[in-house]
Amino acid sequence: RAKAFGKGQLALYNESLQEEATQRLNLENALSEALSRDQFELYYQPIVQVSAGRAQVVGVEALLRWWQGERLVPPDQFIPVLEESGEIVAVGEWVLRQACTQVHQWHQQGLAGLRCSVNLSSRQLQEPGFAERVALILKETALPAASLVLEITESLLMRDGPETLATLRELESMGVRIALDDFGTGFSSLGYLHRYPLHIIKVDKSFITKAPTDERLKAISRAIIGLGRGLDMDVIAEGIETLEQMDFLHNEGCQFVQGYWFSRPQSALAIHPVLQRLSATEELEEGEQEAVQ
Ligand code: C2E
Ligand code: MG
Ligand code: MG
Ligand code: MG
Repeated sequence: RAKAFGKGQLALYNESLQEEATQRLNLENALSEALSRDQFELYYQPIVQVSAGRAQVVGVEALLRWWQGERLVPPDQFIPVLEESGEIVAVGEWVLRQACTQVHQWHQQGLAGLRCSVNLSSRQLQEPGFAERVALILKETALPAASLVLEITESLLMRDGPETLATLRELESMGVRIALDDFGTGFSSLGYLHRYPLHIIKVDKSFITKAPTDERLKAISRAIIGLGRGLDMDVIAEGIETLEQMDFLHNEGCQFVQGYWFSRPQSALAIHPVLQRLSATEELEEGEQEAVQ
């Protein structure tokens, strides 16, 4: 067909653009039905406290998944689309309610005090009455406010409206904790740490991955950990995959870690035994990874 146009390249180019647009439209259509068709699922990944060579789970991060038929779609492929359309507000509320319900259930099953971390998009925080919605969900699900952690990013704070600070303060006064996610990857302004009520810093996995072998990344990770501790914030290192990384972070005084080394994110059903195992204080040994696989 390209030949018929006599401008092979251009026709092919147009065709692929067309195809891309069609695919995008299909994705948007399928996504807009996903909530009502019950195609979303939350996976959970443990957040672990490490001290004196012992590991204990303190919380879980809820991570959204989309079942498009048999295909499990990762969030990077559809959250931007939901953000653009504004549907993230409804989906985000579903995530919050679902995660709070699940963690409350785990509390009742013996995992008392387990914290529930939920990622937020900027659209959600800018929604009028967001803090009240959160209060309502906590009441409905009976999850204590102190068990909820909301994760935001630097880019969200960069694009914030005037309401963001007020909303974050309101959440803080309810007892909800705020975590700054992916720290160091955005336009890290240290001013944010001062201006906003933030309780937790999450060191981005891009630093952690190479930190044990790269002197510069080592220095950066060390500085972020020191900053957090100096500001009396909890520091969580993301993306721990090896014992070497664990050792490095432990030596640097980072108390909290999250990563494949302890567990990949898994369905509520699959993660429950992992949480139970990690809630009895465990000694860190070589067998660890196998044990929690
Ligand atoms: P995030 O909040 O920084 O979540 C951590 C990501 O790192 C997750 O990717 C997790 O699976 C991955 N991860 C954890 N441990 C390791 C590790 O040891 N190695 C490696 N390579 N990766 C690890 P995931 O689940 O694909 O989520 C990607 C991002 O999507 C999240 O990054 C978050 O920004 C966003 N997201 C996920 N769920 C939601 C949600 O419900 N709402 C919103 N607004 N965003 C979400
Ligand atoms: Mg997160
Ligand atoms: Mg992160
Ligand atoms: Mg991220």
